[in-house]
Formats: sequence, structure tokens, C-alpha cells
Amino acid sequence: NNAIEIEGLRKTYAGSNGEPDKEALKGIDLTIPQGSIFGLLGPNGAGKSTLINILAGLVVKTDGAVRIWGFDQDVNPRQSRASIGVMPQELNMDPFFTPRGALDVQAGLYGVPRAQRRTMDILRMVGLDDKADAYARSLSGGMRRRLLLGKALVHNPHILVLDEPTAGVDIELRQMLWQNVRRLNDQGMTIILTTHYLEEAQEMCDEIAIINHGEVVIRDETQNLIRRID
Ligand code: ADP
Ligand code: ADP
Repeated sequence: NNAIEIEGLRKTYAGSNGEPDKEALKGIDLTIPQGSIFGLLGPNGAGKSTLINILAGLVVKTDGAVRIWGFDQDVNPRQSRASIGVMPQELNMDPFFTPRGALDVQAGLYGVPRAQRRTMDILRMVGLDDKADAYARSLSGGMRRRLLLGKALVHNPHILVLDEPTAGVDIELRQMLWQNVRRLNDQGMTIILTTHYLEEAQEMCDEIAIINHGEVVIRDETQNLIRRID
């Protein structure tokens, strides 16, 4: 079974101030199997963020079909959104939120009942339990990333998407991220991550799709792909 099915996905951003339109995704076909750690690899500007922002429901596609955990985004938007959690790249967050408050708001957005919220478990998992009540403005970049991972997990999604999780991250945080990714995957969660580091994708991912100029140029199991590139 597939966690994600994408058919003919297109995204064109309208140009502003007389700039031409930008075709960021030019007809992507991609399936991502349940239970895998799947890497989306490609240079800056390839369309990786656009793709995962569409999966997350944050960017509206121009054309094509997206099914998340079997739910068509257009037919069952709520169920498709509930199936996926996304750790974005941007670290900007409301300076007056505390980690505990941010997780609570996120859980509320996803309709997680109070009795089912695992706020402290999640904060412990990402190593923020001693910062539960600190204001976000006092959190370092690394701590904000930890919080973003925690937020992506509040509704216990089937699929976790991480957008360039290790860009500019120190070794300790990188290890925390990979440990959590492996453990969540062992528990059955499907993981999708973007990166522009081949070595990182090679080390972490079962399968890799390489995206360039808005198209999937190669998609294969990691071991085959490495052989094809060498
Ligand atoms: P990647 O994540 O692989 O770096 P992006 O999805 O961010 O790629 O960008 C793909 C292309 O779409 C780039 O040319 C980028 O400049 C453009 N783009 C991304 N977001 C927008 C936007 N909101 N408006 C206009 N163009 C955008
Ligand atoms: P990435 O590391 O994914 O390439 P970018 O720095 O390209 O990230 O983009 C950062 C943010 O700016 C994203 O939310 C993206 O959608 C937006 N963006 C990127 N290119 C453009 C653009 N040409 N016009 C407007 N917004 C853009």
C-alpha cells in the first residue's frame, strides 16, 4: 500500500510585478510506499518545498491529484491533512508562545481531545521538557527545530514530512533528529524528508527521488540509485 500517491502534479506561481509565472512543478508522478523512509533530493529551487507544502495543505496545487493515506486531497481534505505531519524549515514563530502552549494550540487545530494530548511526552522526546514554559523568543534555533518536530507529531500522523531537517544543524541535534526518525519509522510511521545532501539521503533513506526543475528525474531504491550514479 502507498502512503502517498501523486499524479500529474503541477504548480505554477503567478509572477508579481511583471515577472513571468514560475512553473515550480511540471507534472510530478510519484508514489511513496507505507513504512518507508523516503528521500526527496534535489538542488535549491528544484521544487522540493513546493511539493511538500502541497502535501501539507499549505500550498494549493495548480493541477493533478494527490492522495494521502488513501484520501484524495480534493475529496477528503480533512482526513488527508490529519494523516500527515510536517516539520517545516522556517524557524520564525510567535515569540510569546511557550513550547507547551505551542503544542497545545497545534493539538487544538487538529482536534486532538485534551485527554489524548501527550504534550510532556512529546517535549521529552525532542529534548525540550526542561523548556516547556520558556518563551519562544528565548529559544535557540536548535530548540525551535526541536519544537517544530514536536508540533508535527501532536496528532500522531501516519506520515511525517521533514523539510531540510538538518540544514545548519549541529551534530547533537542531527543525532536527536535521526534517532527519532528511526524510532518513529520502527513504530510504523512513514517518513519523507528533503535534503540536498546525497550522503544524508544515502544513509537514511530506503528510496530516493531526485527532483530537478520541477520534475522527478530519477526514483529508485537507495542502493540501486547509488550504483546508477557511480
Ligand atoms: P526547493 O525547495 O527545491 O528549493 P522550491 O519549491 O522552494 O524549491 O522552489 C521551486 C521554484 O519555485 C523556485 O524557482 C522558487 O523560486 C519558486 N517559488 C517557490 N515559492 C514561490 C512563491 N511563493 N512564489 C513564487 N515563486 C516561488
Ligand atoms: P528553499 O530552501 O526551500 O529553496 P527558499 O529560500 O527558496 O527555500 O524559499 C523560502 C520561502 O520563500 C518559501 O516559503 C518559498 O515558498 C518562498 N519563495 C521562494 N521563492 C520565491 C519567490 N520567487 N517568490 C516568492 N516567494 C518565494
